[in-house]
Amino acid sequence: MIDYEQFLSRTGRGLRESAIRKMGTVLAGSRDLVSFAPGYPAEDMFAWDEFAEIARQLLGGTDGTVLQYGPTRGYAPLIEFLVELMAERGVRSSPDQFVVTTGSQQGLDLVARVLVDPGDVVLIELPSYVGAITAFRAVGAALVGVAQEADGIDLAALDHSLQRVRANGQRVKALYVVPNFQNPTGLLLALEKRRRLIEWAGRHDVLIIEDDPYRDLYFSDVTTAAETRSLAADDTDGRVVYLSSFSKTLAPGFRVAWIKAPGPLATRIELAKQASDLCTGALDQRIVFEACRRGVLTRQLPRLRDYYRGKRDVMSASLARHLSGRVTWIPPRGGFFLWARLAPPITAEALLVHARKQGVIFVTGAAFFVDGTGDDYLRLAFSAPSPERIDAGVGRLAAAITAMLAAPAIEVATS
Ligand code: PMP
Repeated sequence: MIDYEQFLSRTGRGLRESAIRKMGTVLAGSRDLVSFAPGYPAEDMFAWDEFAEIARQLLGGTDGTVLQYGPTRGYAPLIEFLVELMAERGVRSSPDQFVVTTGSQQGLDLVARVLVDPGDVVLIELPSYVGAITAFRAVGAALVGVAQEADGIDLAALDHSLQRVRANGQRVKALYVVPNFQNPTGLLLALEKRRRLIEWAGRHDVLIIEDDPYRDLYFSDVTTAAETRSLAADDTDGRVVYLSSFSKTLAPGFRVAWIKAPGPLATRIELAKQASDLCTGALDQRIVFEACRRGVLTRQLPRLRDYYRGKRDVMSASLARHLSGRVTWIPPRGGFFLWARLAPPITAEALLVHARKQGVIFVTGAAFFVDGTGDDYLRLAFSAPSPERIDAGVGRLAAAITAMLAAPAIEVATS
């Protein structure tokens, strides 16, 4: 038997399966399970017919570039489209500032590799997106958590963390933020805080990594476009590295996303991408571009907003009916997630054991905190299950809590 551990690099040894992917394995193994775990878009909303038509035309064999290697930075007409899309988001840009990536997850990995040396500090919201935590940890970043308030990151806590880190002699390279309908909290960062973050980054010579996959999925009852204003829109000095994706709006299977960064950083990111995958799939980019050109994205967005808002409403109503007094939450104004806080003595890890037995799963809060806290939270993704399944799943969650509270404490402690 070969001991493969001895061959592994430090990075190889340090890699861990994410709590969410682990849930995916559970999901695959069980039939009647309501999954609130992964933030998957609803498959019944994909523009199947339009994608099929576009793919059929592209694969007609008349244009070899459809299946060929392409430029590392991405398919040029798609980048031209992205310049226009960013203009709609209030951001002025030029094609040399873009790199199309294999999902925003690759974007985060590339940005981390290009910016962070082992031991460099990246400031990150408490809680934050688990995939970003993984990407930064893989390059040896020291992640320092910053508390959030109901309107996003706590600016006093941010200042305090920066001072503390600097007093320790460590270099702060960047702040990572998800300003719109954050994963996992669903929170929207206040407009005033967005302005102040840009000033803060300039004052302290720090970069901001703005990750923005959910901005178009606001629920029309409350949010206006002004409230989701990108930090990059007010970035006059070039401090913001902006990422966004077609995963939540068109489909994640295409793996088409983009980074818009200051030119010199975009060049470095391009070089890192060359080493990683040479180029993003040409067919994927062509389908996505055609879908945008033919107005599929524009037609989809209002439908998606209505659809996900409806699911959010079902989940909120269901939680209020089944779990009042046991959990509290701030209703998300967009995105895929409801972030619920458990009343003591219930903790998420212990509840998950009982929830699985009842046929429902979620992601435990601790997965999203870099400081080891968060076991009094759970992330419930309402995006994929049908409204009926959402209601059934919340009912099962209530049954799991009842079972947990009835169980002898020793079982809870050891399970
Ligand atoms: N950032 C955030 C905040 C996300 O929630 C996700 C998807 N869960 C991603 C990035 C990655 O998206 P993708 O790789 O599918 O573009």
